[in-house]
Amino acid sequence: MNEDTGRSKITFQIHPCTEDGFVTIEAKLYLGSPFGRPGEDFFDTKQMCSALRRIWFFDSLRCSEEMGYALAQWEGKRIHVFKGGKIIIRRAKDNEDARKTLVIVGRTLWGSIPCSCGRPLVQCASGDCDECSDKVCESHAFPPFVEIPGSSSQIKGGEALEFVKGIATKDHYQNAFNKLGEFVSVLKEIDKKMVNKDFSDLDALIESAEESMEEACASGTRFIIETPKDHHAAMGIIFLGMAEDLWTIMDAMHLMKNISFEVEEYKIASELAFDSYEAFLRNDQAKAGEIKNRFKEFMREKHPNPVIEIARAGYHIARMMTKPFPV
Ligand SMILES: [Zn+2]
Ligand SMILES: [Zn+2]
Repeated sequence: MNEDTGRSKITFQIHPCTEDGFVTIEAKLYLGSPFGRPGEDFFDTKQMCSALRRIWFFDSLRCSEEMGYALAQWEGKRIHVFKGGKIIIRRAKDNEDARKTLVIVGRTLWGSIPCSCGRPLVQCASGDCDECSDKVCESHAFPPFVEIPGSSSQIKGGEALEFVKGIATKDHYQNAFNKLGEFVSVLKEIDKKMVNKDFSDLDALIESAEESMEEACASGTRFIIETPKDHHAAMGIIFLGMAEDLWTIMDAMHLMKNISFEVEEYKIASELAFDSYEAFLRNDQAKAGEIKNRFKEFMREKHPNPVIEIARAGYHIARMMTKPFPV
């Protein structure tokens, strides 16, 4: 049985009764415009593997970034994902079971699909993409998965927390951001030490930050999988983008002990980053504009790389706040 969806983005082939009454579903995602560029992999393989690893209920998972191939087992089903855009689900109980599984896998991988800029959507959503900072990303608005109609409206990234309050699964989203808040609290503790160039106990603090991030990502993934409407579920990509930005700050802080830096320049960078995160929480659009200017000002002078990374993460958060997202 062949099916073409409205925009011919995807071919489904469902093979019933192939293996002793089980159902196989094959989905081949098109590489045509506007998704990705010719000759490029369909999935960013690094994002593909980390997205699949966040699905907590798989019985087993193997994912190779090098080969761009993943095999997961779940309730007797075998799920194959290929970086070229093919997803095969074998040994599903029936058509519904096969399709439900495809939706879960598809939504989870949504952020690892390249945008027309060639970068995975999560990176565009994080604000780390010049080309996409003022526009809706195509593969976000018109995902090449399942039968999702194009989105009809949009919000700014900074409006995400308010928008999600009207969604049934809002608790998962709020919990994900609460855990990010805990992550940021640890970053602030590290920050206090940084201004005194005190690098003691850094590893223990980083470990506790990592725990909060893991819990945040678990809730964010729950939101992506369990939210009824697909475009609402895609708000989870904004969360993942924020998680990337905050993770970058921690990574950069970790590197500070190996470099020589001026406390003053560090302070400007970290204030910029924390101000930006807090501006996001209250959707302060004016502040986002101010932060973009502060970053440009900061970049007029030379700074060590990790210090720049911290400031840049704040700049990215500000750009995410003003970037339009489809809903
Ligand atoms: Zn982009
Ligand atoms: Zn984009």
